[in-house]
Amino acid sequence: MPKGNIFISICMIVSANIIQPAAAQFQLEGYSYLDGSPVRVEIRDGKISTVERIEKLTDETNRLFIAPGLIDSQVNGYAGISFSFAGGELTREGVREATKALWKKGVTSYLPTLTTNSHELLVRNFEILAGAIDDEALLGSIPGFHLEGPYINPEDGYRGAHPRQHVRKPDWDEFMAFRQASGDHILTVTLAPEMEGALDFTRSCTAEGMVVALGHHNASTWIIDQAVANGAKISTHLGNGCANMINRHVNPIWPQLANDQLSISIICDGFHLLPEEIRVFYGIKGPERTILISDVTSYAALPPGEYQTPDGETIELTPGGMLRYPAQNVLYGSASAISKGVVHIMKVTGCSLADAIRMASTNPADLYGLGDRGMMEPGKRADLILFTIGNDDLEIQRTYVRGKLVFKAD
Ligand SMILES: [Zn+2]
Repeated sequence: MPKGNIFISICMIVSANIIQPAAAQFQLEGYSYLDGSPVRVEIRDGKISTVERIEKLTDETNRLFIAPGLIDSQVNGYAGISFSFAGGELTREGVREATKALWKKGVTSYLPTLTTNSHELLVRNFEILAGAIDDEALLGSIPGFHLEGPYINPEDGYRGAHPRQHVRKPDWDEFMAFRQASGDHILTVTLAPEMEGALDFTRSCTAEGMVVALGHHNASTWIIDQAVANGAKISTHLGNGCANMINRHVNPIWPQLANDQLSISIICDGFHLLPEEIRVFYGIKGPERTILISDVTSYAALPPGEYQTPDGETIELTPGGMLRYPAQNVLYGSASAISKGVVHIMKVTGCSLADAIRMASTNPADLYGLGDRGMMEPGKRADLILFTIGNDDLEIQRTYVRGKLVFKAD
């Protein structure tokens, strides 16, 4: 019997074959994502209280890694629920459904992302989403929101699948209305820095504590560097939201790679970027300044086929999991959760599991000021995942959010 018999009798060690603990205090064992060594993590009242290296796992058949839950800063929707295009249909129940489906993929925190749309729809959906922040059923899985657009480049290619009629210049008063509707929970906004007024807008957002991201743009080196000097911190899905035909020297990709102060987010679903692009981006930015995002949409976790958006556009989800917008010959976001990106970037770059989890949990927590999560260490929320590494995706076995078991694989 390991040391601490009395202690173990009042809590419990949870290994691969023991189900949900009822106690406010319990332990999990697994192989640490950091270096594969066996660890025992104690949880008290929803937080990690200790992380202890142990000789071997109590259950010798346990093959599971343990890591902090994944944090996805770009989630447009999931499993049939859209945050942007739902019209009047987005409901609190819908947000719960999407969140529960994401828990199955190991996502313990995410930023619902509203994309370019009418003022009215954005205000209304921010108001609905604001209710989810304090929804006890979600256990704090939604710490805030991402606004991608509407202040982006209107040109085909750069605009991506964002509807042109709703693209506009940055408007601080309008943005303050969005912010108010969100209950002051917009953590980040993606904009095109070359739009009239965008540099001042960037400075104002930064002063207000929001993270400005550069995306869907065709900005020059000077403008990109100026945006960074004004506080912009990250490029959104670098290599996407960019026209297919660009000048080989003068294009927005090089200066974003060359600016050492700029982090990048990338979509590692196997469709948005070629392996060599991921290797180069990762080679330059490293695990310190790379963040994995899914850019996942409501079409994720649905059967392959053609779908109509509420705007009457046709979207195609291929059997291989690619989500296309045939009218513009561009991708329409992703159909794969961020867990797939963890495996894909390991495969493509040879990076460690520790680095992949860092890019999918620790880095976004740091960037968006979520100091209570993103690490498996004492004092952090007990947002934890137990998993094995599959061929194309993490095989999530259990997900804990704030110390509560919210998903267990069959
Ligand atoms: Zn985008």
